Amino acid sequence: MVLKQRDFRLIVEHANDAIVVTEVQPLDEPGPRIVYVNHAFSRLCGYDRGEIVGRSPRFLQGPQTDRGTLQNIRKALEEVRPICLQLLNYHKSGQAYWVELSIMPLLDNDGTVSHFVAIERDVTQWRSLHESLYLQAVTDELTGLFNRRMFADVGNKYLNLARRQRTPLCVVMLDLDHFKHVNDCYGHHTGDLLLQLVGRVLEKGIRESDVAGRLGGEEFGILLPETALHDALLVVARIQDLLQSECRQASLPAGAWVTVSIGVSMLGEADTTLDCTLQRADQALYTAKERGRNRIEICI
Ligand code: GH3
Ligand code: MG
Ligand code: MG
Repeated sequence: MVLKQRDFRLIVEHANDAIVVTEVQPLDEPGPRIVYVNHAFSRLCGYDRGEIVGRSPRFLQGPQTDRGTLQNIRKALEEVRPICLQLLNYHKSGQAYWVELSIMPLLDNDGTVSHFVAIERDVTQWRSLHESLYLQAVTDELTGLFNRRMFADVGNKYLNLARRQRTPLCVVMLDLDHFKHVNDCYGHHTGDLLLQLVGRVLEKGIRESDVAGRLGGEEFGILLPETALHDALLVVARIQDLLQSECRQASLPAGAWVTVSIGVSMLGEADTTLDCTLQRADQALYTAKERGRNRIEICI
């Protein structure tokens, strides 16, 4: 059976994916004009066909639409090659939505481009599910800090960068002192609040490029890239002070205020993975516990 042009038109018209056809020029503002959209396209963006045809698809872009992605589209159009990507568009109601978009040139019999066609579908839900699964996989639910796995991932990246660029990297391990006592005397809920408070203190006390993670129960880690030992010691001392002032402000029972023991180590020549540096920080932490807790020890 040979399909007629009219059959194709019906198929496109009623396809579930949104389809839009534009002219080829102009690639500069205001952009190529839309000559055709199917029903799904109207449903997706909320505009009637009459409100769309004659305008450029750019009218659906908005403040959060990624400029880099738009440049990639522009480049593909200039080079007359197909491209597939995800882009943020804005519904008539103002609501933003993500589309997965595949754009391709339509060629005349003589090989010249007559139009561009884009086929797209809403992937907003897929993206938010993906994002929340990703967050679950890399963060600790209680504190929102990176979990041990992500901490190690980022740490190994920082380590490789530091080795290549010959810049210092300090690694810190912190463990709450006598935390079991807090749980036993004030309940697990107060214990959890304290762990969250420590998470906030760590984030407050470090720079944007530094990384804090919850490595286990009441044990935390910090990565300090491009930081020499002397500066790392200033950071951890500041964290100790911050922790006390936050405990005071959090109106916790005085007996529930916690201190931390801290071990600091520094990336060494022989450290090929984060584990090597982390192990020395752990040794230093152990020494801090042995020597009476609420103190900072170093193991180079
Ligand atoms: P030390 O100074 O030697 O570190 O003593 P500690 O009591 O802090 O250490 P220990 O290892 O004996 O106890 C750690 C406690 O941390 C026991 C455990 O119940 C508690 N803990 C671990 N994870 C959580 C958590 O997610 N929430 C709460 N509330 N407590 C936790
Ligand atoms: Mg402890
Ligand atoms: Mg512990």
